[in-house]
Amino acid sequence: MKSRSYKVDISGLIAGGRQTLLVDDVVPIETFEGIEFPQAARVHLELRYVDRLLHIEGRVDVEAHGECDSCLEHIVRTMSVGIDERLDPGTGRDDDPFGENNVLTGDRLDIADLTQQTVLSEIPMGLRCSDDCAGLCVTCGINRNASTCSCSNGD
Ligand SMILES: [Zn+2]
Ligand SMILES: [Zn+2]
Repeated sequence: MKSRSYKVDISGLIAGGRQTLLVDDVVPIETFEGIEFPQAARVHLELRYVDRLLHIEGRVDVEAHGECDSCLEHIVRTMSVGIDERLDPGTGRDDDPFGENNVLTGDRLDIADLTQQTVLSEIPMGLRCSDDCAGLCVTCGINRNASTCSCSNGD
């Protein structure tokens, strides 16, 4: 799937040769716990190097397809997730493989990792069709968003 590299060279930025590095790309996102992303995410980033920190600001737009965690209906959720990060290029994956700097290796920023982490951080509990999804009846399994049943579930 990763037939091309999504690594951005930020060495010019760090050297002070450029004020802002713009990144516009489309990045495929791998299926995660049953949630699919049929179209690649659209990524727009502005990178700056300020006070020895890499500032990453921008937005990721993607459609998530999957089942509502509560009522199991198939849903499509359009996501637009903001990114606002400060990373220290002095530390990276080699120093701290589980830290947030793991999108940064030396002077290479991994856009694919950054995009994947940003999108998945928005859906830590899976997808929901709506904030007030009524879910399934625990007794008969009917979708309580669409119909009612006569079971008494004590609520
Ligand atoms: Zn639901
Ligand atoms: Zn029922």
